[in-house]
Amino acid sequence: MLKSKDIIMDNHPNLRKKSEPVKLPVSPEDKQILRNLLSYVLESQNPDKTDSEMRSAVGLAAPQVNISKQMFAIITQDLDGELHVLGVVNPRIIKRSKEMTFIPGGEGCLSVSRETEGMLTPRYRSIVVEAYFLDFEKDRFIKKRMTFKDYIAIVFQHEYDHLQGTLFTDKMFKDLANLEPLYPAEESLN
Ligand code: ZN
Repeated sequence: MLKSKDIIMDNHPNLRKKSEPVKLPVSPEDKQILRNLLSYVLESQNPDKTDSEMRSAVGLAAPQVNISKQMFAIITQDLDGELHVLGVVNPRIIKRSKEMTFIPGGEGCLSVSRETEGMLTPRYRSIVVEAYFLDFEKDRFIKKRMTFKDYIAIVFQHEYDHLQGTLFTDKMFKDLANLEPLYPAEESLN
């Protein structure tokens, strides 16, 4: 089980490395790493969590726990309430929309503790991705092509960037007035 102390921070050089593709078929060990990432994200959202240092998260990528492999976990509700639980291996973004957007309050990351509030990160409004997704019922990976839009697309791009050694703090702007925000600034998620 992962603990908050297992998360490496943005001054750690390994967070800046490009991750290695996961060998296919996915080994039981690699599947367990992904399950640990998913468990961590789920537990972080539990108000009664036992690890008091744990900050709430919607996603966690393997490089953030110092494992340089192309995988990440996402558990979040979209703006329309749809729940996304994704265990992702070897993703590729194969199509990006022209239109871009951003979360008006800015993004956050378990590997970044400094204050970044009000700093904005532009993201593609929709993306088409190809990846091996963990099928929770069949307990195996299925290669799929999926389209993500709006909030889940932004979360996906944030986690995908971790696999390239890129952090949201690398693309922060004070003002993105040329872009339409994902939702009005006075509303907030949660
Ligand atoms: Zn992050």
